[in-house]
Amino acid sequence: MARVLIIGAGGVGNVVAKKCAQNDGVFSEICLASRTVAKCDKIAADIKTHNPNSKTVVTTAKVDADNVPELVALIKQYNPVLVINVALPYQDLTIMDACLETGVHYLDTANYEPKDVAKFEYSWQWAYRQRFEAAGLMALLGCGFDPGATNVFTAYHAKHYFDEIHFLDIVDCNNGDHGKAFATNFNPEINIREITANGRYWENGMWVETAPLEIAQDIYYPKVQTRKSFVLYHEELESLVINFPSIKRARFWMTFGEAYIKHLSVLEAVGMTAITPVNFQGQQIIPLEFLKAVLPAPESLAENYTGKTCIGVQAKGIKDGKEVVHFVYNVCDHAECYREVQAQGVSYTTGVPAMIGAMLMLEGTWMKAGVYNVEEFNPDPFIAAMNTWGLPVNELADLELVH
Ligand code: NDP
Repeated sequence: MARVLIIGAGGVGNVVAKKCAQNDGVFSEICLASRTVAKCDKIAADIKTHNPNSKTVVTTAKVDADNVPELVALIKQYNPVLVINVALPYQDLTIMDACLETGVHYLDTANYEPKDVAKFEYSWQWAYRQRFEAAGLMALLGCGFDPGATNVFTAYHAKHYFDEIHFLDIVDCNNGDHGKAFATNFNPEINIREITANGRYWENGMWVETAPLEIAQDIYYPKVQTRKSFVLYHEELESLVINFPSIKRARFWMTFGEAYIKHLSVLEAVGMTAITPVNFQGQQIIPLEFLKAVLPAPESLAENYTGKTCIGVQAKGIKDGKEVVHFVYNVCDHAECYREVQAQGVSYTTGVPAMIGAMLMLEGTWMKAGVYNVEEFNPDPFIAAMNTWGLPVNELADLELVH
């Protein structure tokens, strides 16, 4: 029975709050706090309507998570044991600072990214290791689906099927349709910064850089379909190649439809994805932030979303001297997510693992002072919990899907 503070009330925050309320044996009290408190209140009201039997006591609060003293005041007042950060990557460090100051554990789903540089890496958060260790606190980084479940799948491969993993391919297919000409499935600013950046993958001990969306292949996604997929740099690659040093090549693939790519290239060509300020009628505005304001909010896509996501990890390597290939994956249906928690599949596949990671920390199954990535823990309880909490895990042996 634990009291937890959730920060961020967007697409992912909605799912985390609702899954915690379903798991009321663990999450006895949650406070949902964000910049716009009305969004927190709406989620709290939804929980009352859709899950009236939940025993979780849900409260809401307003907080600016860029402001450490404000965060510290809220944490001291609410007194949680853990903060789940599902605001934006820009707030990771301020929330970690506030957790250290108040003696509270920490979990997030995306690594720190400075607002004025489109660059994300773990160095900033790994630098907190000694401080968390010394304080007897734990920070669990990147506990969504990718990163998150994909790190767990890699650890699961390594534990059960391989002596050495040599080739790792993480594949992320959204085969859904939200009916809009152009929209992003999670925060548009973060999403567009990720996709318009150069691609990068790990090969023979070094990073190989590509132009954005330069490398593509058709990949078959079980229970979904074959889709053209592109190499992107994705944050879990950074920790996985360190924690599994036998990996010779690690890549991350994501599907994009032609219409999506066409819209994105036009927006980029006309300067709408830039993050440097421009003067507009005497006011400094950042084009990407303005674009975010006119695009549909990710949570608004949920109601009419159809189709499925398929996210998985293919590993190739050696077991008992023989070559092995194995695929671990989940398939998630957008419309079912909407029926369950009024969310689309991308928010759902991120929010459920965040709840599971928090549960494993609170139960002591995954509790160790310091700053950790998800693959550093035993994957089995996480996989078992995915099967229980709405993200069933499938496996496929001896079929090479990614070449
Ligand atoms: P949204 O933009 O829908 O929601 C973000 C929420 O954070 C909003 O409620 C927003 O408030 C709030 N917020 C932003 N800035 C502040 C601030 N300074 N103080 C307090 N609250 C703030 O994003 P998503 O829900 O789609 O994504 C949430 C996180 O999940 C992101 O970090 C994203 O990168 C990550 N993610 C991780 C994935 C994974 O698989 N690991 C996949 C998808 C997302 P307001 O409403 O006022 O704007």
